[in-house]
Amino acid sequence: HTVPDISLNDGNTIPQLGFGVYQIEPKDTAEAVRRALEIGYRHIDTAQMYGNEAEVGEAVRASGLDRGEVFVTSKLNNGFHRPEDARRAFESTLSALKMDHVDLFLIHWPLPTRYDGDFVSTWKTLEEFQRDGRARSIGVSNFQVPHLERLAAEADVVPAVNQIEVHPYLTNEQVRAYGSEHNILTEAWSPIAQGRVLDDPTIVDVAEQVGRTPAQVVLRWHVQRGDIVFPKSTTPKRIEENFRIFDFTLDDTAMERLSGLDRGESGRTGPNPDEFD
Ligand code: NAD
Repeated sequence: HTVPDISLNDGNTIPQLGFGVYQIEPKDTAEAVRRALEIGYRHIDTAQMYGNEAEVGEAVRASGLDRGEVFVTSKLNNGFHRPEDARRAFESTLSALKMDHVDLFLIHWPLPTRYDGDFVSTWKTLEEFQRDGRARSIGVSNFQVPHLERLAAEADVVPAVNQIEVHPYLTNEQVRAYGSEHNILTEAWSPIAQGRVLDDPTIVDVAEQVGRTPAQVVLRWHVQRGDIVFPKSTTPKRIEENFRIFDFTLDDTAMERLSGLDRGESGRTGPNPDEFD
């Protein structure tokens, strides 16, 4: 019942289930991450934007685990896409974490018009971080198919992951399909739509049938689709609940019932990446 490791296109591996720390106050972050590591999570998803990288690093060190046992992701903040800004920002991530490398570093948003929409030069800067070993893997977040196509045409390294909004109300199939065709793993952010899908009657019904909670059923749906997830919670009971998803399965009917809840664009909880700048 342990968390599977998934292979990335660069030969590294990533635990399929992690712990997300978006909107966790810096003062609460070390305790939440400590809990998560105690329960067995070995993958933490943070970002420069979240303002809590230092506390993530603190909790990893305090856990007594070897650095190599915990997979740490961070993301380049918006407004730092110019290569010289990206280099400085990346150094600030490593110094906040007090680590000599991150396991995965992402461009957080494509930002279609800011800095002339030139995320390709930003991406080539992330390629430098990977070459010098300070980012073991590199990837993108909130990239739509045309953004991925542009990287494929103009850059050398294929992103290891694309971290996008995915949950039963926004199944995001086209972006996921591009990823699976091009060996880019999908990471599903806001996997339970920040709680919004949990009282959906179909999800509640499936949860009753399998004797699990709605959150466990939705997270299980993601992992059976092959995506990576990192639900966020500061409540110890929920942090534990969200970890217990590898000792049951959903049958095809249940999987299809959840996928059938897709609402397309109107199902988004966050901004549309084509418009967010
Ligand atoms: P989420 O879908 O993980 O939902 C979290 C919320 O759901 C919690 O605040 C809590 O209110 C509720 N919840 C959690 N577990 C529950 C349970 N077992 N039962 C009932 N309610 C529960 O939302 P999220 O935090 O937005 O997304 C997860 C992670 O994804 C983030 O922490 C972050 O790491 C990442 N993320 C990335 C981006 C991006 O642009 N790349 C954007 C948003 C989130």
